[in-house]
Amino acid sequence: MSAPDRDVVVVGAGPAGCAAAVFAAREGLDVAVFDRGRSSLARCAHLENYPGFPAGIDVGTLSDLMRAQVERAGCALVDDLVESVERSGDDSDDSAESDGSAESADPDGPRLVVRPQEGDPVAARRVIAATRYDGEYLRGLGDDDAMFEVHDHGGETHEHFDREYADRDGTTPVDGLYVASPSEASRQAITAAGRGARVGKRVVADARIDAGWWPDAAEGVDWVRREAELDDEWADRDRWVEWFDEEHADGPVDPDSERFARVREAAVDDALSSYVDADEEAARAAAGRRALAGRLDPEAVVDAHGADALLDAMDDEAVAAHLAGDESDAERPDEASP
Ligand SMILES: Cc1cc2nc3c(=O)[nH]c(=O)nc-3n(C[C@H](O)[C@H](O)[C@H](O)COP(=O)(O)OP(=O)(O)OC[C@H]3O[C@@H](n4cnc5c(N)ncnc54)[C@H](O)[C@@H]3O)c2cc1C
Repeated sequence: MSAPDRDVVVVGAGPAGCAAAVFAAREGLDVAVFDRGRSSLARCAHLENYPGFPAGIDVGTLSDLMRAQVERAGCALVDDLVESVERSGDDSDDSAESDGSAESADPDGPRLVVRPQEGDPVAARRVIAATRYDGEYLRGLGDDDAMFEVHDHGGETHEHFDREYADRDGTTPVDGLYVASPSEASRQAITAAGRGARVGKRVVADARIDAGWWPDAAEGVDWVRREAELDDEWADRDRWVEWFDEEHADGPVDPDSERFARVREAAVDDALSSYVDADEEAARAAAGRRALAGRLDPEAVVDAHGADALLDAMDDEAVAAHLAGDESDAERPDEASP
């Protein structure tokens, strides 16, 4: 079987999909996020209960910020509507579909094929559904009776995606399919994001398990930590190796095996790479603020800070050039950014 085009395809760039995509991409997985169609987020007049925004946030700005974060994390954002998801090689054996037990012959091969409205089909190892309103594109992928539930509204029957079809970590009976939304968490933006994060972490752990990690070793945290908090003992790589050996001595993999050594190497690399020094912390803080400022309209910034504070923060030559009417000499803010 040929290699997949993507490790992960996420369907939907709302709070659930963006959170899932960021967690997966930060692990180094190759992620594409498809986004088009009916959005719950777009219908909010103003979001006032999402942490971090004291006066609330308009959904256009939040959406821009989330999409920028997804791209910065390394995902490809694709403006296209997903029409269906099929199992790779679906021509083969339909009998295995209902319980989702069919697997690709090659564990590294694609499991699913995502068919968008306009672009080419994309083969993926894993697909995360993150669309509060729409699960129709999943019809036929597994057991429809389990995936959809029928409701009776005033004598008329309607079918909805079953919000409890997936487990809390998004796993489903269909190999390679995860559902972040619709779920019970989809009714509020922040809980939708939390569910997306949980599903993204599940996908990361499962990708590691595919690569030879065992479940206890594969579960981790995505943290960025201060190097200054590493005391002398833990600054030494050997201490981490020792810790890993202690943690997994009684695990399912022989500590003397090549597999154990390979996973330990990757786990220790992962732990150590989460530490940043003070300069890096400051650089990331500055980049974070700059990215936020870039989404604000200049009038809002002047209003919030006052013209004097902004003029003080500006380069004198740029102000002088502006006053002289020679704006071409004044450095534009985006050019001034490294
Ligand atoms: C009127 C209204 C007001 C609300 N107000 C609030 C509020 O004040 N506070 C609050 O916490 N929550 C509020 N909500 C709920 C909030 O909008 C949802 O909880 C949240 O948006 C769910 O996020 P999600 O990522 O699961 O889905 P969505 O926000 O719906 O995001 C799904 C994304 O997937 C895309 N998509 C859909 N189908 C496809 C497809 N087939 N292929 C590709 N892309 C697709 C959509 O375009 C969309 O961008 C409100 C909802 C409504 C309707």
